[in-house]
Amino acid sequence: MSPKSIKTTCPYCGVGCGLLVKQDVQGTLSVQGDKSHPANYSRLCSKGAALGETLDKDGRLLQAELRGEVSDLDGALDFTAKEFMRITEQYGPESIAFYVSGQLLTEDYYVANKLMKGYIGAANIDTNSRLCMSSTVAGYKRAFGSDTVPGCYEDLERAKLIVLIGSNTAWCHPVLYQRIVKAKKDNPDLYIVVIDPRRTVTCDIADLHLAIRPSTDAYLFNGLLVYLADHDEHNHLYTQTVTEGLEAALEAARASSPSIGETAHKCGLAEDEVADFFRLFARTERVVSVFSQGVNQSSSGTDKVNSIINCHLITGRIGRPGMGPFSVTGQPNAMGGREVGGLANQLAAHMEIHREEHRDLLQRFWQSPVMVTREGLKAVDMFRAIESGQIKAVWIMATNPVVSMPDADRVRNALKQCELVVVSDCMRNTDTTACADVLLPAQAWGERNGTVTNSERRISRQRPFLTAPGDSKPDWWLIAEVAKRMGFATHFSYQNSYEIFREYAHLTHYENNGSRDLDLGGLADFSETEYANMEPVQWPVLKGQRAGVARMFSEGKYYTASGKAQFVSIVPREAAHRVTDEYPFILNTGRVRDHWHTMTRTGKSARLSQHIEEPFLEIHVDDASRLKLHSGGLVKLSSELGTVILRIVATETQQPGSVFAPMHWNDQFSGQARIDTLVHPVVDPVSGQPESKFTPVRIEPYEPGWHGFILSRRKLEIKDARYWTMARGADCWRYEIAGDIPDTDWSGYAQNLLGSDDATDTGWIEYFDTSQCRYRAARIVDDRLESCLFIGPDPNLPRRDYLISLFAKGSLDNRERASLLSGRPAEPQKDTGAIVCACFGVGEITIRDNILKNGLISVEQIGDLLKAGTNCGSCIPELHQLLETLQKETGT
Ligand code: SF4
Repeated sequence: MSPKSIKTTCPYCGVGCGLLVKQDVQGTLSVQGDKSHPANYSRLCSKGAALGETLDKDGRLLQAELRGEVSDLDGALDFTAKEFMRITEQYGPESIAFYVSGQLLTEDYYVANKLMKGYIGAANIDTNSRLCMSSTVAGYKRAFGSDTVPGCYEDLERAKLIVLIGSNTAWCHPVLYQRIVKAKKDNPDLYIVVIDPRRTVTCDIADLHLAIRPSTDAYLFNGLLVYLADHDEHNHLYTQTVTEGLEAALEAARASSPSIGETAHKCGLAEDEVADFFRLFARTERVVSVFSQGVNQSSSGTDKVNSIINCHLITGRIGRPGMGPFSVTGQPNAMGGREVGGLANQLAAHMEIHREEHRDLLQRFWQSPVMVTREGLKAVDMFRAIESGQIKAVWIMATNPVVSMPDADRVRNALKQCELVVVSDCMRNTDTTACADVLLPAQAWGERNGTVTNSERRISRQRPFLTAPGDSKPDWWLIAEVAKRMGFATHFSYQNSYEIFREYAHLTHYENNGSRDLDLGGLADFSETEYANMEPVQWPVLKGQRAGVARMFSEGKYYTASGKAQFVSIVPREAAHRVTDEYPFILNTGRVRDHWHTMTRTGKSARLSQHIEEPFLEIHVDDASRLKLHSGGLVKLSSELGTVILRIVATETQQPGSVFAPMHWNDQFSGQARIDTLVHPVVDPVSGQPESKFTPVRIEPYEPGWHGFILSRRKLEIKDARYWTMARGADCWRYEIAGDIPDTDWSGYAQNLLGSDDATDTGWIEYFDTSQCRYRAARIVDDRLESCLFIGPDPNLPRRDYLISLFAKGSLDNRERASLLSGRPAEPQKDTGAIVCACFGVGEITIRDNILKNGLISVEQIGDLLKAGTNCGSCIPELHQLLETLQKETGT
């Protein structure tokens, strides 16, 4: 095998880091950061660095299935097309829906959108980006007349002030965070303000943290607008020449936030910290306001976005280096979806459904038989329409709405009663594939070929370096094949992704003449080789050019009807639901550092699974103590919609009255931890984005009759445990379990779960202390530890790390066998603690001990001694926190 090196793009977050995948002569693949990619210049976070561990075919969907039976792909495509035609004929085009994903490539998105809006003739195509950043799209369009990110990543390095609003950048956009850390190191005058109800690890670099009362951001930015106007920080030339609506916006702002004192009161902040922030913003010309899901995922997310943009418009701080309002997107290709009309309220190439000239242009360009005339249903309404039977058939592509949609159980029930559910995915078993009538095998990252756009409008190539296994196909191919079978062969006869990209690039330039921001005229004449070798480029790329544009609106030209930017008058609204005596806590949902979305990829990596092994609930220590809860215990967390069971983490980083839980865990990795089953499906009226950051909940201790854990080389189906979670280890799967009935027949339970037919070469050992409800069993096959199970009356069970280490051994020696059920090594070993550095497997206790023993005072010293934090750097904020905590504890 000859060695090769392929440049591609990370499939996780919207930072869009460039990667270099290398294959050596043995065929072993390694993944590194691409030094030449302008998003990351070789940096990677823990997720990107562990991509090589997620490439196996375990769990892949490799063949089509029809109603649970394996089918040839042709048969499944024929069936899908025939059913779509029957349903369209019987109930009309609006009875069909596509629910697509920010994981799709732009080419996939383009073809899906073309089929739905120009050939089926409805606009019921929406993307899971609706849940992530549609409020930003709506906010940008209201202000600029177009969905345009004004700036670029380089602005973070050129700014003097960076305001991070509702963004745990350190965990959710780690490479951007690394760039900010470096910028601050290079320029100690760079000031960082974090606005977030939680003290997240991002606050590690904050000069000022405003722990704002949840959902009050618009009060704060209205207050800032008033302050800027009243303190002569108003750029009169700019507002008079290129903006409209300032007076009305100011009047609304004065009504809600007339003074610093009133603003501070509304936001639950101290007056002097609000004054500090306002002064800082006012006196700093180069300011970038970075915002993310904490702003977007709200029933007034669009208003919050516009309240931020208003402050940049009044100061004219937009379109120039080191300044501007800057939304960072969650998914790797949320931006690409926005560009080709992946949202139900847009047409392709930034054209609008409500504009007749755009509909006409698109229909002529596509030569399509029909063209939508009205918006389709946005995600939440789309699943409601599936539930009511208004939509009879849905095709879900590369996403898992049964986990990620609000009111997720209702979404599952809606799918179960839908006449036809088609799911194309690369994974066989997800909570959503379980609801499918038709499964179509899609290619995975590493096999796909196309483009993605990151948060700074930069288009990069995803290039294949693996052969697609089984019958798996590109998503665009699956869509085009269905389109051909529906009678649209002439217009969907694409041979490859290059042909689709060219068509899309032509469309962006077609009759554009500067009227639309998104113009790829310069790429429309690309040869196939140029497409193959395409370097990352920021759109627009104008005709006759190959270079893109770093900053938009530099000349004050906007895409509104008047050509001027619009101030939007904001009347702040608080969250749609309020806490009550019955549901007294506010639930905030979000991501953790080392997992991605619903874990179908990161859950495969032992390295990533070590950082946080179980779904958890963070609660303020005072609330925990009032409710008599302890870290490590279990709680039932309930909203009006459902209940989950989570492990408690008591912390001072939460606000009293607020709790946080991650959105990743699903029914494949846990028994009852799909957090979105609790979230109300209330949405922003403009953007349709759900309010995932504010759900009133109740917390009750869950005291199981027994606790336990299982380690096993093969994946198990856990039964009869009220609580269970699964995590990947290097050589085994780890299960934490708990249940209600203490007098179970543990021996029978263990035999059922861990046993197998090949009893001849099996060693089975067990221990039972009936009086204390303690049971332990282990299964040994060919001298190797195959599985073990430990049960006790409380969580006080042996450490897992020693037992996990035994799975790495080719055979157990006598001493290890003898001590196996004690759960302890014959000779004591040191507990290294929860893994902090995923790259080098360095645990918290090891780090603490070394800080204390060696008097370490900096992250660099920790790195020199233990290597922690010296690879991807994702754990550096946690290392800082550990140092800080120990310094407080020891008074040093
Ligand atoms: Fe991938 Fe991490 Fe870069 Fe995001 S920050 S694109 S997850 S390497």
